[in-house]
Amino acid sequence: MERSIHICHLYPDLLNLYGDRGNVLCLRRRLEWRGIGASVTEMPVGAADRLAEADLIFIGGGQDFEQQALLEDLHRGKDASLRAAVADGVAILAICGGYQMLGQYYETHDGVRCDFVGAIDLRTVGGKERMIGNYLFRCGDESGGMEVVGFENHSGRTWLGEGVKPLGRVLSGYGNNGQDGTEGVRYHNVFGTYSHGPLLPKNPALCDEILKTALERKYGKAELAPLDDSAEQNAFREIAARLRNA
Ligand code: GLN
Repeated sequence: MERSIHICHLYPDLLNLYGDRGNVLCLRRRLEWRGIGASVTEMPVGAADRLAEADLIFIGGGQDFEQQALLEDLHRGKDASLRAAVADGVAILAICGGYQMLGQYYETHDGVRCDFVGAIDLRTVGGKERMIGNYLFRCGDESGGMEVVGFENHSGRTWLGEGVKPLGRVLSGYGNNGQDGTEGVRYHNVFGTYSHGPLLPKNPALCDEILKTALERKYGKAELAPLDDSAEQNAFREIAARLRNA
């Protein structure tokens, strides 16, 4: 059977910090290199809601300004579609501002409250100091258990609700709030993280975990043929060692 995955890239016009879109390219290529079909729909502000067609949704990061700018469009129905997608087990990768957006709300450092999607029980409150830097975390077993190197830059401190699992545990850096050691969220098939930029090109095992999740939801058990990731693995070892010794 021909397999294919349809990716929906939500708000590429606003949530696009640090080249977050490179993650979409990585998802796509790693499917194609294995002979699996891949297509991408970009859904900027004002575009028709096609979230229901997606096997995989990608949401990048944005600053407070962009997060406020998209609220009107979000609450015209895409919020309900996102809640439905999360409940339905659609694979979702959401980064920083996009991750915060799936939660209940974000209250900025200067007291502006953005009511968000409410698909996951988590909330975010802005702090005076930004949490910036390269960081290292280990994913929970349900998300593959691999170590991940990333780059974070956020003022928001995210707190997970009772029983909501993080994506992983911080080994070096801040993660969700700089206090409880958690990083991101794993809820149903949502992978939420503070890690910006080329998260997936730097961490191909995490990319494959997300692809596997999307494929298994659509087709049942999926084994992904191995790819040559030796260059990425060498880079990972080098950076991870530096962060561990920082
Ligand atoms: N505005 C949010 C914060 O600073 C998200 C920033 C981002 O996506 N980098 O917490």
